[in-house]
Amino acid sequence: MAFTHDTELSLSATAALVNTGRAPVEEMPDVAALDQFIADWEWTGSRTHDKAELAAVLRLRSRLARLWEMTADEAVVLVNGLLAEANALPQLVKHDGWDYHIHATSPDAPLANRMAVDAAMAFADVIRVGEFGRLRVCAADDCQDVLVDLSKNRSRRFCGLTCANRVNVAAYRSRRTAS
Ligand SMILES: [Zn+2]
Ligand SMILES: [Zn+2]
Repeated sequence: MAFTHDTELSLSATAALVNTGRAPVEEMPDVAALDQFIADWEWTGSRTHDKAELAAVLRLRSRLARLWEMTADEAVVLVNGLLAEANALPQLVKHDGWDYHIHATSPDAPLANRMAVDAAMAFADVIRVGEFGRLRVCAADDCQDVLVDLSKNRSRRFCGLTCANRVNVAAYRSRRTAS
């Protein structure tokens, strides 16, 4: 395992959030889509379920997407900014069956602030162990999705199985045609 479990979960959740904005159609068009995302990634804590909350999450999504276009030094400025803006105060907590992990915001802080700090703490881990190169864009030509490679041998190239299978099938077909 490259990172602690909670860091890996946060990195995957952040990539998933960024990817809702990288498909040809907007994948987080309304509060219902946000609700589904929150349920899928098992976010707890307070919600307002309104347009303002969605707008704040979408603003955060744009800022986080830039991590995949930055150098580690540039990412440090963003990560420190996110932590400072939300007045992050790291605390070890245990809840809902999860063992000890860090929350750096209170459960009643606005959702976008909690998501921002959670992502910032995880990327702080990545940067401080010199693993920023694990941030990738999917290797499929027709896919812009981002990923954080959490594999042991740093070999992950695709955002998910769908892209990996599609590219592998295409490569197989072109080999067969060529021979
Ligand atoms: Zn928690
Ligand atoms: Zn992909």
